[in-house]
Amino acid sequence: MRAIRRFTVRTVLPEALSPLGELALNLRWCWHPDTQDLFRAIDPDQWEAVGHDPLALLGALPPARLEELAEDRRFVRRVADAAEELRDYVTGARWYQSLREGDPGSPGAVPRSIAYFSPEFGITGVLPQYSGGLGILAGDHLKSASDLGVPIVGVGLLYRAGYFRQSLSREGWQQEHYPVLDPNDLPISLLREADGTPVEVSLPLPDGRALHARVWRAQVGRVPLLMLDSDVEANEPAEREVTGRLYGGGTETRLLQELLLGVGGVRALRAYSRVTGAPEPEVFHTNEGHAGFLGLERIREYVAAGLSWDEALEATRAGTVFTTHTPVPAGIDRFPRHLVEQHFSGELAPPGVGVEKVLSLGAESYEGGDPGVFNMAVMGLRLGQRANGVSLLHGDVSRGMFQGLWPGFDQDEVPITSITNGVHAPTWVAREALQAAEREGGARDWEGLSRLSDSALWNVRRVLRGKLVEDARARVRASWLERGASEAELGWVDSILDPDVLTIGFARRVPSYKRLTLMLRDPARLKALLLHPERPIQIVVAGKAHPADEGGKRFIQDLVRFTDDPEVRHRIVFLPNYDIAMAQTLLPGSDVWLNNPLRPLEASGTSGMKAALNGGLNLSILDGWWDEWYDGENGWSIPTADGVTDPEHRDALEASALYDLLENQVTPRFYDRDGAGVATRWVEMVRHTLQSLGPKVLASRMVRDYVLQLYAPAAASTRALGSDLSGAKALAAWKGEVRGGWHGVRVDHVETEGIGDAPEVGSVLQVKAFVSLGALTPADVEVQLVHGRVDADDQLTDVAVAPLVLAESYEGGRARYEGTLPLARTGAFGYTVRVLPAVARLASPAELGLVANAVASEPAAVGAPPLR
Ligand SMILES: *Cc1c(COP(=O)(O)O)cnc(C)c1O
Repeated sequence: MRAIRRFTVRTVLPEALSPLGELALNLRWCWHPDTQDLFRAIDPDQWEAVGHDPLALLGALPPARLEELAEDRRFVRRVADAAEELRDYVTGARWYQSLREGDPGSPGAVPRSIAYFSPEFGITGVLPQYSGGLGILAGDHLKSASDLGVPIVGVGLLYRAGYFRQSLSREGWQQEHYPVLDPNDLPISLLREADGTPVEVSLPLPDGRALHARVWRAQVGRVPLLMLDSDVEANEPAEREVTGRLYGGGTETRLLQELLLGVGGVRALRAYSRVTGAPEPEVFHTNEGHAGFLGLERIREYVAAGLSWDEALEATRAGTVFTTHTPVPAGIDRFPRHLVEQHFSGELAPPGVGVEKVLSLGAESYEGGDPGVFNMAVMGLRLGQRANGVSLLHGDVSRGMFQGLWPGFDQDEVPITSITNGVHAPTWVAREALQAAEREGGARDWEGLSRLSDSALWNVRRVLRGKLVEDARARVRASWLERGASEAELGWVDSILDPDVLTIGFARRVPSYKRLTLMLRDPARLKALLLHPERPIQIVVAGKAHPADEGGKRFIQDLVRFTDDPEVRHRIVFLPNYDIAMAQTLLPGSDVWLNNPLRPLEASGTSGMKAALNGGLNLSILDGWWDEWYDGENGWSIPTADGVTDPEHRDALEASALYDLLENQVTPRFYDRDGAGVATRWVEMVRHTLQSLGPKVLASRMVRDYVLQLYAPAAASTRALGSDLSGAKALAAWKGEVRGGWHGVRVDHVETEGIGDAPEVGSVLQVKAFVSLGALTPADVEVQLVHGRVDADDQLTDVAVAPLVLAESYEGGRARYEGTLPLARTGAFGYTVRVLPAVARLASPAELGLVANAVASEPAAVGAPPLR
């Protein structure tokens, strides 16, 4: 590569238009149609030509046009009004500002600032720093936090080439292109010291070198997003490449990226607070394991300030939230242990602490774990006192997946909760839909949409479908030109797809579990559906395979070859380069959004939520969010062949179920029209979808949940440690004692009375538990009665726990605990007794992973006869 030095000359705006700079640099424009219209008004053709990019538009305008606009009093006033509206948006009180610590309905602690770390952020196509769902979710999180007034600071990396742009070869093989971004052309600015020099963050590397980075700042409404960039002159060429590509490079590069994100990210935040005076974050949210090293950097800070490792760990854990996003093992970052050891044997490690402690955080120290591996998700769980999955089902799957870290506890007690993902409605609801709602006097949102008359709603769907058809034709034409076809051969493209045919959308990344090609399982059946004389369907497909995923690329090729067939090419298309811009037309334009992952590997999925907000109906495997919110009438569930272990057979069964649904339920409903041509039964389902899913799938609901269920409690835990961190010291000391003395804790013997051989509803079980506490005291423990129904496998289900009360302490560390349990239900029930560390001092009963259960050889403690 030639060493070309690029310079970008930023447009100098006439004074009267200077607010346009502000409006272009704050990414709020990307979810604010009025601001977009303002830019479009400057030069509608140029606006299209630059792909709706305000900064590029301003850069492309000749000075004469700017002078002309500056003379246009009405335009200048419009610009000033827009800038004032933005300032009001950024400074006004919103939901978060209504929270008052301790008020009813408000949390006990309202965090002053929350840091949100993510390896990718998908905010707008103009800042292409995402690969798929994880990044888009992070973007939607920041946007909704901004709308709600939540004081979040995003932390990520700035990749020079972002993720790749996808095209196809003549043969339908995925081609990757990495257009290089010039930060000076992006809506970001350098974070600078008071004297104007760029803030620099550096990390020591093992061989005495260093990894340097500068920090860019994007403004997402009210929310700043800091992005570290290693492409600086102070770096050696290899280090300059660290932030070259999103998920690019080998293992070593990935580790360096994650070190820069986690460790460098904390350092960037400290610099940000120093130069702007912003409050230091009280809560650190690790969005997926990739950012997990942030916890190690915080431990290092605490140890440097005089805390021990254990104390620093408590202080860090209290304020850390970890979100896991995948049950797919390949989706979890695992590094060779020796590589992490190399990096943390020097100055990156907390001073005076051996590297073994660092390595222990990522150790797979459970059955089946690999001793040679450092697991980022496992570290995330150890460093975050609070953790969650991203749907109810995924929470449960994650508890099962990581249960080995809490031996002795049931899956339900594994301290991983769930908050179901959501999507940012102002980004994802099509403008045409909002305008229709408004025209008919409704609110400009999904709710207004749900109140439209049948014919108005049906008409909106037709408009959105038509827009998709138009967009798809343009993309197919462009794709064929790239594949080497000439214009003269492409006349047929003008009539592909039909704005009146039932349209099915399928677009997402292409890992194998998402099963891009399930629909091709029986090509004859698919063809029959596509070409049905009265009730045809048409399918629009898109998705990128990871550059290293040959299997995924083969799926794409199989699909593309199918779509190339002249017999069906007017009814099924593959659109290359799935991205935010395409999604904003494809999702609203699809009547049916198809999702057929291998259950339960889709942690949540979000694209179906975007479809729903536009009145699209989901046709999906009961996985992720759909498992939770499918209600029998807001779409269709594709039956799964759970438990069928032969993958071929399972695919065949599920594909067949998919075709059946399309043939017997979906198409008949769509083509069933009333006298006026409206598919009233379809519209009924659309309306029900909007009403039932509208309020749930919103990212604003998700962010509120994060604030109230995770961020506020994490801030409270942090504050409880005291500003001098004496609480962290006390907690670490106590945990040390409890761990040290736990070998002496056991349930000796349990006595019960009150139920006899034939207990009846209303009987009261009286329990006496005799326990040994060894060197510990009753203040260190909680003794619990665990009770529930007994299922066919002799396992407790519907488990509940009730603390027993200390009745008497004896010599030698023994004690008697007592309690009663009124029996309220018929059926087989069982109970047992266990001792835990004092749960009131912990965020979850399983936090320490310590429990002494009554042993099964103690007959009184396990099981009881059926109740009558
Ligand atoms: C929403 C979205 C995704 C995520 O889709 P899933 O349903 O979670 O697989 C990926 N890419 C783009 C461009 C999106 O808009």
